[in-house]
Amino acid sequence: MSSSLDSSPVWHPYAHLKTQQPAPKVVGGEGPSFQLESGETLLDATCSWWCMIHGYRHPRLVSAIQQQADTLCHVMLGGLTHAPADRLARELVRITPKGLNHVFFSDSGSVGMEVAMKMAIQFHQLRGRSGKHRMLSLMKAYHGDTAGCMAVCDPEEGMHSLFAGYLPRHHFAPAPEAPFDADPEAVAADLAALRNVLERHHQEIAALLVEPLLQAAGGLNMTSPHYLRGARELCDEFDVLLIFDEVATGFGRTGRMFAADHADVTPDMMVLSKGLTGGYLGHAATLATTRVHDTFVGDSPEHAFMHGPTFMGNPLACAVALESLAVFEEEDYLGRIALLSDVLRQELLEDTRLTEHPEVADVRVLGATAVIETHGAAALDGVADWAREQGIWLRPIGRWLYTMPAYVTSEAQIRQITEVMKGWFR
Ligand SMILES: *Cc1c(COP(=O)(O)O)cnc(C)c1O
Repeated sequence: MSSSLDSSPVWHPYAHLKTQQPAPKVVGGEGPSFQLESGETLLDATCSWWCMIHGYRHPRLVSAIQQQADTLCHVMLGGLTHAPADRLARELVRITPKGLNHVFFSDSGSVGMEVAMKMAIQFHQLRGRSGKHRMLSLMKAYHGDTAGCMAVCDPEEGMHSLFAGYLPRHHFAPAPEAPFDADPEAVAADLAALRNVLERHHQEIAALLVEPLLQAAGGLNMTSPHYLRGARELCDEFDVLLIFDEVATGFGRTGRMFAADHADVTPDMMVLSKGLTGGYLGHAATLATTRVHDTFVGDSPEHAFMHGPTFMGNPLACAVALESLAVFEEEDYLGRIALLSDVLRQELLEDTRLTEHPEVADVRVLGATAVIETHGAAALDGVADWAREQGIWLRPIGRWLYTMPAYVTSEAQIRQITEVMKGWFR
């Protein structure tokens, strides 16, 4: 298409430079849709990598940023504080599982995970267990693109196998297979596999990393709350910290505020990002329990946590996160998500033409997330262009065609999305 786009110096993510198509230019957005320079309006079935939970140009979020910009755009959090950071930390402590009482801010989900892993290592060091210096992660996991995070992503199917030689080595347990609504007996095999790795390697394992209930970028694998409860018990038994990566699942995506709420489990640390600011600015929070935090109270230089991203606690990000949370609660987003979820179930799970289609391996819905898993990525070749012709922005990951819509998407709009997802298989 236009040569000015072809020659743009912008280097796009996850793109094959030889086969990538010119990226359409977005000029604005409103609610769950955005507008292109060409005049097209696309209903965003992905809410921009799952973060624009209120949709585009939400008046309250825009105004929160404008007002904060008028007062204080940024100041370092080293040795200083400000009301937006303090208020947001208190709010996050209030809404997250009981016991997570301390908040370390950073600027992205990956860095939030790096902070959690570093804290876990230092936690054990400070207790005289310096041998615990590896992580335990799960197959199908995705925890981010920085080096520390790449090393805990699925080492086979993940995107980072090219870098294997560069990365530290960790332990991996099989991805849990029991579905969300499995009974405890059906989860036993998944937990036995986890126990097996812990029994053999717990002396060098600092923390277990879990994307609770929904392994997102690694294939939208949905698992049972019983798995989280079992993982909590195993971590306690083997003196391993439990870290929930709720970067994708946090803020309603699985139908509760946090995936942890389905299981009534408090992890030792929890990482939030994506939906935290309603997607309006990059930010992240790593929450820790009092037990973790208090281990860092001591006299030696090693007791300080040596980490501090320049933009941690950025006032604009904190202000818009506070407004995002206020809207979420005042406008009963959990109620909306339940409705969206019902429509997704009805349209996708109850349609046997879809579920029994030869190219479809599985169809899953959890909260405001739905996925059609195919037998191979080739089954989805061209689906994004085809959806765009019908006004829907869909972007499959590998062999998974999914939607994670904004929570302001109407019932009729959800049906537009599911029609296109199903239509591809007709
Ligand atoms: C997106 C994501 C990350 C990484 O967040 P970035 O902000 O892209 O660095 C980490 N963990 C999970 C579960 C994610 O979905």
